[in-house]
Amino acid sequence: MNKLQNEYELAIARNLEDVQDKIFRSARKTGRSPEDIKLVVVTKTHPLDIVRCVIAAGARYLGENYVDEAEEKIHALRSEVQCSWHMIGHVQSRKARLICEHYQWTHSLDSLKLAIRLDRFAGEIGRKLPVLLEWNVSGEESKQGWSAWDEQRWGDLLAEVSLIVDLPNLLVRGLMTMPPFFTDAEQSRPYFQRLRRLQEFFAQHLPQASWQELSMGMSADFEIAVQEGATLVRVGTAIMGTRPNP
Ligand SMILES: *Cc1c(COP(=O)(O)O)cnc(C)c1O
Repeated sequence: MNKLQNEYELAIARNLEDVQDKIFRSARKTGRSPEDIKLVVVTKTHPLDIVRCVIAAGARYLGENYVDEAEEKIHALRSEVQCSWHMIGHVQSRKARLICEHYQWTHSLDSLKLAIRLDRFAGEIGRKLPVLLEWNVSGEESKQGWSAWDEQRWGDLLAEVSLIVDLPNLLVRGLMTMPPFFTDAEQSRPYFQRLRRLQEFFAQHLPQASWQELSMGMSADFEIAVQEGATLVRVGTAIMGTRPNP
């Protein structure tokens, strides 16, 4: 190992511990069990050697956004260590097969069309794919996900969501969101609260699925997300440092 990599490894290990500690304290502050929260370390655009550093520091849940970029890393690391790979970025439906082959979880299911394709390929390779449905709870236009900012209209969502729940090879596990970017993390709180209300709404109306997971919170606001019920936080920069350009 060269000197630079050694420095990275120390810095990343320290960052990881710091984030885990903040998760622990945010959970305790609101009476939650810290074990109920999984930290997904977002490794997108970081090269393999840097990803190895965070694995060496103990991370086992890794998040990636781009199917092609991640493929190489997943392939290379497979023989070294068992990791759980989480797709957190928008997936084009023509990439659905790769998702089924390489990822343990998909957080960013955002259309019926993609759901149908994931279900089909999962069936072909004989697996069940855990998925989270992605919601745009802010109304911000650039966000992926089904629109759910208007709580008066949540009833309209049930028909499509129940079709997804009924797909035999998908295991619907909960919801994911990405609030608009704020410099003050407190401003994300109402969106995390809305996602939790949406979770309760689905749990009530479509009880045949399990809605327990809430994927919310990134580097800037994961502590707030944990306070509001996140079970999966997706943290990149605060652990890995600034991202290189892809
Ligand atoms: C990049 C990304 C993250 C991590 O963002 P950071 O601010 O670096 O922690 C989390 N979730 C999604 C969907 C992302 O695309």
